[in-house]
Amino acid sequence: MYWNKTQLKYIINLYCINTSDYPTVFFMITFIYLINQMDNCIFCKIISKQVPSYIIDENEYVVAILAKDMECFGHTLIIPKNHFENVFDIDDNYLKEFILFTKNLAVKYKDKLWATGVNILNANWKAAQQSVPHLHFHLIPRLPGDNMDTWPKFEKYEWDHEIVLQKIREKIF
Ligand SMILES: [Zn+2]
Repeated sequence: MYWNKTQLKYIINLYCINTSDYPTVFFMITFIYLINQMDNCIFCKIISKQVPSYIIDENEYVVAILAKDMECFGHTLIIPKNHFENVFDIDDNYLKEFILFTKNLAVKYKDKLWATGVNILNANWKAAQQSVPHLHFHLIPRLPGDNMDTWPKFEKYEWDHEIVLQKIREKIF
């Protein structure tokens, strides 16, 4: 079950009146912070229809809209209807719904739009160039002759694969 903003505000009011213990107050402040984030979030405004958008498809959990700056035909944003900042704070069950929705739309683009490929792009946090702090995937249908290059450009560097592998594995396991 997922609460909407009105329900959350009601719950906070209810608890703030009846409690003075610090953990609960801290909990409530976190809730209020999240609600303010939702109030200022362009994607939350699109989802609540305060801001108009071009909806391609949606279900209970996820919506797909045309990107505002649609630099290429069919550039689509896939957005969970609940506010999650990025992949680090979405819960696993919601993430499954999000990924399945994305896959199903990608299949439709392949079968019905005759896309010869699709890019599914995602950024997490500012350092990774996340522009809107509400989790989203970019789904880009690739059409014959589109001549786009969606890969980032890196300077070539000769890494020692054995050393890199060892460094990563000793840190993450
Ligand atoms: Zn949002």
